[in-house]
Amino acid sequence: MQVVESIQEMQLLSQSWKTKGCSVGAVPTMGALHEGHMSLVDLCSQNADKLVVTIFVNPTQFAPGEDLDKYPRTFDRDKKLCEEAGVDAIFFPSVSEMYPGDSTSWVSEEILSQGFCGGSRPTHFRGVTTIVTKLYNAVLPDVAVFGEKDYQQLQVLRRITRDLNFPIQILPGPIFRESSGLAMSSRNRYLSEQERKDSLIIYKSLKEAASRVEENSDLKAIRQFLTDEISSVGGNVDYIETVNADSLEKIDVAQGSVRCLVAAHFGPARLLDNIQLL
Ligand code: AMP
Repeated sequence: MQVVESIQEMQLLSQSWKTKGCSVGAVPTMGALHEGHMSLVDLCSQNADKLVVTIFVNPTQFAPGEDLDKYPRTFDRDKKLCEEAGVDAIFFPSVSEMYPGDSTSWVSEEILSQGFCGGSRPTHFRGVTTIVTKLYNAVLPDVAVFGEKDYQQLQVLRRITRDLNFPIQILPGPIFRESSGLAMSSRNRYLSEQERKDSLIIYKSLKEAASRVEENSDLKAIRQFLTDEISSVGGNVDYIETVNADSLEKIDVAQGSVRCLVAAHFGPARLLDNIQLL
């Protein structure tokens, strides 16, 4: 397995694979890898000949005062996990490699990135869409895998990939959960033991909500149920929304493909989860 730090080397490596007729798959991450990330690597390996995991804690998707400085960085462990999973290369650039000091260009998506996580983190998705574009141009993948855990992000990235004509197939990876039901996240390590227990209410109530919803169900009542459940154990709800699973338009009556998106703070951790309701 190679660890590649320069964009140009990464491009050359990817091109050399393609010359030999191999397809290239990318799994973009911010590192601190867990089984959720590795499930995406697994999915990618079934759909591409060569596997690249990118590890880059992207400063432009963090707002001032967020957890950029304390975001976990565990490269040696990440490297071991990737080696064991049969990854061909880790793309591990520095901040100055990805953002030269005089860099002034951005990529933004203007509809799907509004509201939800974009409401509470207004500069977040511009950072995500810019870095993913730059990672695409470094890794030159045929396939890219993103997790459904970050559902809005997945839809935003699908949209820019389509709108900007990247010849890249996006594969969504299902949410990988701890045995308790908590969606795995690098940020779960911010939780105390008690907060970890309390946070189980998110998935428990989402599952209950999914079992209650049928065609034409009142989704306002479902949102209220979730708000009450999560608040009852001290979770601080950022948003709970019911949306069309493709367009992310908010809906109040269950029809078509309905996704329920949740973001809630438990202590220092802002946790995301979601479920298909219909
Ligand atoms: P991150 O390192 O948190 O930026 O995540 C990198 C990729 O892994 C994103 O596409 C996430 O949606 C995905 N991911 C993170 N946690 C999970 C999980 N528990 N299940 C599935 N995908 C995940």
